[in-house]
Amino acid sequence: MALIVQKYGGTSVGSIERIKHVARKVAEAKKQGNDVVVVVSAMAGETNRLVALAQQVSESPDERERDVLLASGEQVSSALLSLAIKDLGCPARSFLAHQARIETDKAYGKARIKSIDSTRIKRALRDGEIVVVAGFQGVDEEENITTLGRGGSDTSAVAMAAALKANVCEIYTDVEGVFTTDPSICPKARKLDRISFEEMIEMASTGARVLQIGSVELAMKFAVPVHVRSSFTDLEGTWVVEEDESMDEVLVSGVTYDKNEAKITLLKVPDRPGLAAQIFSPISGANIVVDMIIQNASEDGTTDLTFTVPKADYKKALSLVEKTASVIQAGGVRVDPGIAKVSIVGVGMRTHAGVAAKMFQVLAREEINIQMISTSEIKISVVIDEKEMEHAVRVLHEAFVEKQGNL
Ligand code: ADP
Ligand code: ASP
Ligand code: MG
Repeated sequence: MALIVQKYGGTSVGSIERIKHVARKVAEAKKQGNDVVVVVSAMAGETNRLVALAQQVSESPDERERDVLLASGEQVSSALLSLAIKDLGCPARSFLAHQARIETDKAYGKARIKSIDSTRIKRALRDGEIVVVAGFQGVDEEENITTLGRGGSDTSAVAMAAALKANVCEIYTDVEGVFTTDPSICPKARKLDRISFEEMIEMASTGARVLQIGSVELAMKFAVPVHVRSSFTDLEGTWVVEEDESMDEVLVSGVTYDKNEAKITLLKVPDRPGLAAQIFSPISGANIVVDMIIQNASEDGTTDLTFTVPKADYKKALSLVEKTASVIQAGGVRVDPGIAKVSIVGVGMRTHAGVAAKMFQVLAREEINIQMISTSEIKISVVIDEKEMEHAVRVLHEAFVEKQGNL
């Protein structure tokens, strides 16, 4: 007998029919003798609908109340799924975050899980119940409702699996696993049987929304076996696992893209120590995550500083930067929300030279202009015009995945 955590994403619980189908899958896992904890997302489209509602009421909605609103999507789906399971004759019980004792920090909209007290859930399991947990939500130490960031139910599921020392965390979604690139924009994408934690972290952090980055970090830290698979078929999906030697033979495991960033440039910043700190401190103080940064010194003693922030935060970042720019007497501020980041990821890059050069050649051949570049040990990212993004993904996928290996 095993303890299984199953997470169902928005499309998988997107209609009453789908919820009934999930209930049958869950009941089947229970009938096979397993203890089953299910983590659910809101029904497809619901979180977007709630985001839009908040926006209609207030241009910059209060973060606490916004989280109370957004968390309601998962309250609905967890209750509906419990009802559907009970209807099949299996005992089931839904748990909201405060009942499942999922405690987070206070960062509304992007909270991190600090602890889970699983006593009540273990009791329900001992009583033979199927436990259905509302994903995406937590409570801070003052019992305010928090949410974990878009895609956060993945993290709820892995955290639950870690807390319960589950044998597996199954992430059920609308694709058959983790693909070499997003199958919705590249028909030649193929499913990976296995991917290392490190590669999956890079893929998630560069835009592959199939798993939220925090979920993969937790899975790696607590050695939770994660199996990403489709809720529509019974096929084996992708296992996210520890890296092994056979993995470095593949140069590039995946191509990712991210349209959710905007670029801000400060022109003619005086070239003095301390200015970068002065520019970025208010931004980090506002809890805005800066991704890429480029600084270019010019001969007149000033520098241009370009960086990217999430599109959702760029207006806030812009107003902070404009304030700093006038204090430090910079030459001006430009913003460009029409950008995209395209990345290639693979542990094989550690041991092979020439990957970046080939990436730039492929883009040059297509006359795609590179605006920014950043690299890590196993990833190369470029910022390009948003309009060229899908084309860039396809040509990079063709060069590195379809014609694998030859530099
Ligand atoms: P869920 O609602 O189940 O959490 P998401 O929409 O969050 O599903 O994530 C699944 C989607 O992620 C897929 O439909 C796919 O379009 C997208 N995706 C992006 N990159 C990848 C990738 N490399 N592999 C698989 N899916 C990907
Ligand atoms: N419902 C939330 C979202 O749409 C969380 C999730 O689906 O994982 O982002
Ligand atoms: Mg998701």
